[in-house]
Amino acid sequence: MTIKKILIVAGTHGNEINPIWAFNQLKKEQNNFDKDIEYKYIIGNPLAYEKGSRYIDSDLNRSFNSNNQNINNNKNNYEINRANFLVQRYGINGEDPCQIAIDLHTTTSNMGTSIVIYGRRIKDFCLASLLQNKFGLPIYLHEQDKRQTGFLVEAWPCGLVLEIGPVAQNYYDSKIINRFLIIISSLREEINKLKNNLIALPKTLIVHVHQGSIDYPRTKNGDINGLIHPERMNKDWKLTKKGDPLFLDIEGNTLRYLGQDIIWPVFIGEVAYKEKNIAMSFTKKEVICSSNEWVDQFFKS
Ligand SMILES: [Zn+2]
Repeated sequence: MTIKKILIVAGTHGNEINPIWAFNQLKKEQNNFDKDIEYKYIIGNPLAYEKGSRYIDSDLNRSFNSNNQNINNNKNNYEINRANFLVQRYGINGEDPCQIAIDLHTTTSNMGTSIVIYGRRIKDFCLASLLQNKFGLPIYLHEQDKRQTGFLVEAWPCGLVLEIGPVAQNYYDSKIINRFLIIISSLREEINKLKNNLIALPKTLIVHVHQGSIDYPRTKNGDINGLIHPERMNKDWKLTKKGDPLFLDIEGNTLRYLGQDIIWPVFIGEVAYKEKNIAMSFTKKEVICSSNEWVDQFFKS
């Protein structure tokens, strides 16, 4: 893959405003790292950003499913039209083609700075391993969940999400903005170094593989009937085993994790996932060995 342009998207969710601030700052800077690679900075969902809402009609970051049968039935859906526009314009076969997409998000969960990749694409592994190597960032590998599909970066041959939190929606936080600035600047640097054979990939990549999500406990009427347990709050990426508390219901009962496998929960209590009936997602740790082919594929094929 000859990398000529890299698309940096912020505001795919209109109420995640810190990455937009960060990229507006970056846009002003010259790209001193690599004159051969152009970086394009685009607001994913400008109308939702203007209104301070996550989306207008539906979640833009679930609207990039080319197999989505509903696309033709949704001519008036703003996000479906916006997704189609972004792919037609900046997709690999678009008018202004970008080979890589980086999608910047924030979360209300205590995830710290993390990377999300979708499925097991070698080019994504290559890119993610550069950042894990430099900063030790955790990687959430999202795969095989039919309830959650159509993510933006999947519409490009290579791409990842940078997810940083905790921060409230529509709230500017300079610490969060700084983290985006550091990571994006480093990403540009690392890609340039890799291209010029100045760095090697780490031998292994540690990923947290998506196993599924669980909902809050609910009453028969569907109302939420349990809080994230005080011992589980803010414990994203922390090992959880059978018997550990997950929720505290309105009667004061503790609901515990009953699975046999050790898991690492993420997106604990994420505000935006309430509407998706997700209280947290479970992951399992996996070590993937890197290979020189990753770099070959990244730049050559
Ligand atoms: Zn988001």
